[in-house]
Amino acid sequence: MDDQQKRTIIVTGGSRGIGRGICLAFAGTDSYVYFNYGGAEEAARHTEEKIRAAGGKGRGIHADMASEEDLETFFKTVLDDTGRVDVLVNNAGITKDALLPRMKTGDWDRVMDVNLKGAFLCTKLASRPMMRRKSGRIINIASIAAVAGNPGQANYAAAKAGLIGLTKTTALELAPRNITANAIAPGYIETDMTRRIDENRASEILARIPMGRVGTPEDVAGVAVFLASKAADYITGQVIHVNGGLYT
Ligand code: NDP
Repeated sequence: MDDQQKRTIIVTGGSRGIGRGICLAFAGTDSYVYFNYGGAEEAARHTEEKIRAAGGKGRGIHADMASEEDLETFFKTVLDDTGRVDVLVNNAGITKDALLPRMKTGDWDRVMDVNLKGAFLCTKLASRPMMRRKSGRIINIASIAAVAGNPGQANYAAAKAGLIGLTKTTALELAPRNITANAIAPGYIETDMTRRIDENRASEILARIPMGRVGTPEDVAGVAVFLASKAADYITGQVIHVNGGLYT
């Protein structure tokens, strides 16, 4: 494929975990892969190396999901480089868990800002170049917590439920421009985020997974690549659950 035809993929939070897995999966699809990250500089450089090793071209740029200014600069850099955005994966996310009566307002706000407002801002920034080209794919990484709830995660579950609402509305508004928007709701995936869960709780969750194993970033990444592919042209406004049967 010549360089003019290469797709430009933007993945938020590509330095680690599921986001890195998604970057690497797209690296093998003859695309330019751009990702942002918050603080994990070294991990971001490692993702870039892995993208190159997988035969792709990629670049990681520092941009805080909670900063509109950072995100505008991030998208401007991508558009200056390639002139287009074909796929946006809103993946960056954080947890700041506490039972509701003890949850700090600041922790509620930070999770909303990073997990929901950041996705809104990126969707807005991506929608303009996508509308111009009358083509685009938006993929939001939600969570099982959005549909099932999870004790200790009122902020996170609310942000992820909001992300599903954002997905469905984006799908309706942009469908006439041939832009699809879908969400992936992962269950329990092995990353730094879940490695923080205490051992007993982790074993309890594992025991409830009908497929008997935790998920991998690759389990999620494959679905993202599918949703960005021609085969998914007519799929929009959907939530695809990737959870080994944990929630059906
Ligand atoms: P990780 O903690 O492993 O990675 C999170 C990624 O998001 C990192 O690349 C991190 O970059 C980035 N990020 C976090 N905050 C910011 C910020 N303020 N600005 C820019 N980037 C940021 O998490 P996972 O890979 O597990 O999670 C990825 C997504 O999948 C999240 O949205 C999460 O909610 C969702 N998810 C995960 C599940 C799981 O079981 N792991 C289950 C369901 C959903 P950096 O470190 O550089 O800040």
